Amino acid sequence: MDYCIRELEGKQAHDPLFMKKMNNHKSPSSPSSTDPHRRVFVNGPVIVGAGPSGLAAAACLKQKNIPSIILERSNCIASLWQLKTYDRLRLHLPKQFCELPFMEFPSNFPTYPSKQQFIKYLENYAETFHIRPKFNETVKNAEFDSKIGCWKLKCQSSFKGDVTTEYVCRWLIVATGENAEAVVPDIEGADEFEGVIRHTSLYKSGEEFRGKRVLVVGCGNSGMEVCLDLCNHDATPSLVVRDSVHVLPREMLGKSTFGLSMWLLKWFPLRLVDRFLLLVSWLLLGDTSQLGLDRPTLGPLQLKNLTGKTPVLDVGTLAKIKAGHIKVRPSIKKLKRHTVEFVDGRSENFDGIILATGYKSNVPYWLKEEDMFSMKDGFPMKPFPNGWKGKNGLYAIGFTKRGLLGASMDAKRIANDIEQCLKAEAKHGS
Ligand SMILES: Cc1cc2nc3c(=O)[nH]c(=O)nc-3n(C[C@H](O)[C@H](O)[C@H](O)COP(=O)(O)OP(=O)(O)OC[C@H]3O[C@@H](n4cnc5c(N)ncnc54)[C@H](O)[C@@H]3O)c2cc1C
Repeated sequence: MDYCIRELEGKQAHDPLFMKKMNNHKSPSSPSSTDPHRRVFVNGPVIVGAGPSGLAAAACLKQKNIPSIILERSNCIASLWQLKTYDRLRLHLPKQFCELPFMEFPSNFPTYPSKQQFIKYLENYAETFHIRPKFNETVKNAEFDSKIGCWKLKCQSSFKGDVTTEYVCRWLIVATGENAEAVVPDIEGADEFEGVIRHTSLYKSGEEFRGKRVLVVGCGNSGMEVCLDLCNHDATPSLVVRDSVHVLPREMLGKSTFGLSMWLLKWFPLRLVDRFLLLVSWLLLGDTSQLGLDRPTLGPLQLKNLTGKTPVLDVGTLAKIKAGHIKVRPSIKKLKRHTVEFVDGRSENFDGIILATGYKSNVPYWLKEEDMFSMKDGFPMKPFPNGWKGKNGLYAIGFTKRGLLGASMDAKRIANDIEQCLKAEAKHGS
């Protein structure tokens, strides 16, 4: 997509208004080709992040002949999937709910594609739509310059030493994801603990923990799956469960739980569907509170809608807990050299701790803007489905807490909106 910059610089060179605005605004020390501080004018949207969301946005724009560029801090597309996930990961939801716009998963892929298959799908997607992100470019700062009516992004290249580039564009699409930075809790005594302490973003497989006692902190989908992986590698995992959690079977009545829920919601109110899900879960999994996994008072779908908290889709962990291969433990009070002290007063020795404590958005660190994103959690302040559009050509994709399905919806809306804007301008100009 490089041509976007070059060609559009050419177009802008013939746009006296644009050139006047930009020239008026140039700093006295205008960049030269040898200057470590370069400035690039982009006439199309700039997308920050080359995960599935960024790719989907670029593809939808491409379908409308709107060129864009993607800036990506790592050296590959879908860096979360390629660099920060464990080996045994599969899509949690069936493939038809995870496809990006205009491209289905290959029919020979299983219902729940493996991580490698998903990455292959995304690489193929980027290839099909000729998406070539600019890698090793970290956006450090972005703000709207009302004098020229454009966004200015300061970008640091981790590849070319200290080069910083300023991108100037009219549309900014934030696609940095809900999972941009690992959340690592402060645990008393962590410095003293002599075993490994590792966030799940750095956990690959249970192989290195064979024969070891491992404490997994956090009982979301990742924590549950890491426990299962550790069991399968002959480690002895325990699971810290601090909050209540809905565990549902991944499939019920021969269908995926997610697909069945979506179908039922077409006919029945959410509360009734929640009751149905809980009844079937109870029949299939039994009373999870007997295992130390209390259910929240709100139903799984209601909770998801209100807080974004995803129910755990069980892929076999519960059976291991029932069989006593995984122990459930309360919150950690503090760590000592080899020991974990729990809030119930019990102490146990562990060789390692895996933190399945989730991720957070990094938008507040780099986007200087107060209307659209909450600076507290880095998510759009308007609730779904209205969080995708802000002011001055600012958009968000992939912040709906609705996974890849939500990102696809955002991508189509954003491309339509930018197309409308261009059409209106063309009409106005003619
Ligand atoms: C273990 C796990 C399993 C999951 N399974 C599913 C599933 O089965 N189905 C589903 O729908 N969802 C699933 N998800 C949710 C997941 O968030 C989405 O699938 C998907 O990765 C979101 O895509 P994204 O592009 O919005 O964000 P990401 O994939 O996180 O991509 C964001 C990109 O932005 C880049 N970036 C961040 N900050 C900057 C910056 N300042 N400058 C430049 N680049 C930057 C990052 O390097 C990254 O490449 C899962 C998540 C995890 C962690």
